[in-house]
Amino acid sequence: MKVVSSDIVISAVKPEQYPETALPEFALAGRSNVGKSSFINKMLNRKGLARISSKPGKTQTLNFFLINEVLHFVDVPGYGYAKVSKTERAAWGKMIETYFTTREQLKAAVLIVDLRHPPSADDVMMYEFLKHYDIPCIIIATKADKIPKGKWQKHLKVTKETLDFDAGDHIIVFSSETGEGKDKAWSILESYM
Ligand code: GDP
Repeated sequence: MKVVSSDIVISAVKPEQYPETALPEFALAGRSNVGKSSFINKMLNRKGLARISSKPGKTQTLNFFLINEVLHFVDVPGYGYAKVSKTERAAWGKMIETYFTTREQLKAAVLIVDLRHPPSADDVMMYEFLKHYDIPCIIIATKADKIPKGKWQKHLKVTKETLDFDAGDHIIVFSSETGEGKDKAWSILESYM
């Protein structure tokens, strides 16, 4: 997809604030610092659109981006950040559970992981949660530019094994630096619209 327009439409904490449209939606999840904002910005050809709002210590909101007036990206606050209080963690859990279990516009989840390392325990938990609710997943294994191309397949294999990857899902090697995987990611997203 050629992105010609993208803008944040709302930062929501509860369902009443979700946009009232029937547009297809993709939710983006990943641990803090994995490269989720960079992924969003790369996909949208924007530099600073997705940013601070999803950083630790800031208000935890679901940020809805309207793209080409035809779909939404929903930026889910990052997980796995150590310095988050129990109360904040619980609020995050409640917010994402409500979203993922009730949002009918949701077509698929995009789970961002780091290709360089095996998925973390939190990544595995997130994927298990999504699979428990039968939500189709697109795994983005990012920061591929940081390892030699010859090692991608080996790392991909570890990623799949650690996640107990469902063969019905998609997994894409990605780099926000080089744009590797961007076209493939868009064509897979479009196949869900
Ligand atoms: P977020 O917390 O998940 O939104 O992570 P960010 O998008 O802010 O990225 C965290 C750090 O990783 C930043 O310093 C980014 O520049 C860097 N980063 C993100 N994606 C890539 C990538 O594909 N390649 C490289 N080399 N660095 C990346």
